[in-house]
Amino acid sequence: MLDVTRSGAFVLGPECVKLERQIAELVGVRHAVGCASGSDALLLALMALDIGPGDEVLLPSFTFFATASAVWRLGAKPVFVDIDPRTYNIDPNRIEEAITRDTRAIIPVHLFGQPADMEAIQDIATRRELFVVEDAAQSIGAALNGRAACAWGHIGCLSFYPTKNLGGFGDGGMMLTDDDQLAERLELFRAHGMKPRYVHREVGINSRLDSLQAAVLNIKLQHLAGWTAARQTNAADYDQLFNQFGVPAGVELPVTIDGAHCVWNQYTIRVSNGMRDALRQYLRDNGVGSEIYYPIPLHRQSCFSSLGWGEGSLPETERAAREVLSIPIFPQLTAAERETVVRRTLQFFKSDASRLHDYRPAAA
Ligand SMILES: *Cc1c(COP(=O)(O)O)cnc(C)c1O
Repeated sequence: MLDVTRSGAFVLGPECVKLERQIAELVGVRHAVGCASGSDALLLALMALDIGPGDEVLLPSFTFFATASAVWRLGAKPVFVDIDPRTYNIDPNRIEEAITRDTRAIIPVHLFGQPADMEAIQDIATRRELFVVEDAAQSIGAALNGRAACAWGHIGCLSFYPTKNLGGFGDGGMMLTDDDQLAERLELFRAHGMKPRYVHREVGINSRLDSLQAAVLNIKLQHLAGWTAARQTNAADYDQLFNQFGVPAGVELPVTIDGAHCVWNQYTIRVSNGMRDALRQYLRDNGVGSEIYYPIPLHRQSCFSSLGWGEGSLPETERAAREVLSIPIFPQLTAAERETVVRRTLQFFKSDASRLHDYRPAAA
């Protein structure tokens, strides 16, 4: 960071170029283009593919808001596809029925660190001549059948938001592609469509990567493999502990698909007996943090109400929103902490509290 301040190259400097080179190598594609956030990476990817009014883009509804807002912002129509209830990723069996004459692209999201079923998705996209933009914001380093997330589609998008597996000291994002022309367009669009200076061929945006962020990320990248391994250890240990002590009725552990190399941005259990919110409150009262990703599916957000997706239109997505709970998985979690999380969870289901659907904390 001191080197950056001394150099004065605060935006898209040598540290950014270095990070782009290293991430391109990690993913196994020719080009990486840094930008200001994962949200902008998705937006810029769609801009580079000329997605706009009249176009439809298929995507899951069970994801972070940015996957859909990128489509909406360009005047295109987000078309939500239900998820596979085992993996929470877009269900390839539901994609074809959603394709119309206006469909231009699919955005599979690799949720929680698990790759979507890219073999099936690529097959459909190739046959139906659709673009594929991967949302790998939660899945840097993940792979399916030996091929990395971001190396399957036309463009792959990463986020360096602090909660992601590779997080900066602020916002940052990156787009990956093997296509020379797309890489050139992504570079153009992230910097006002300007090339050379003050000559504008396209109406781009200002979404550049800060050198200070890149400097931090270049250091943290050296630790990514170790952190990912720690997340994998944590996940395997949770599996083992739950199975050893007995998975409570109505609880399902995360499922990984064959050939998937998961990077475990989240370890998400399913609590299917209506007890999810009470469990979360019980864990909170007992010093265990947890989070719900995501409580309101995007197709039910009021900002998208004009799209007309009623309740019940995506049953698996809506069920997941009611049932998922992500428990701590961060790399520094200790064995003792993992055991505490599992013991507290099991305690809840053995306690009287579990019989009360609306468990409330004892008065302080
Ligand atoms: C975090 C995230 C984004 C957005 O990334 P930002 O860097 O926060 O803008 C997009 N999609 C998914 C699935 C995410 O988890």
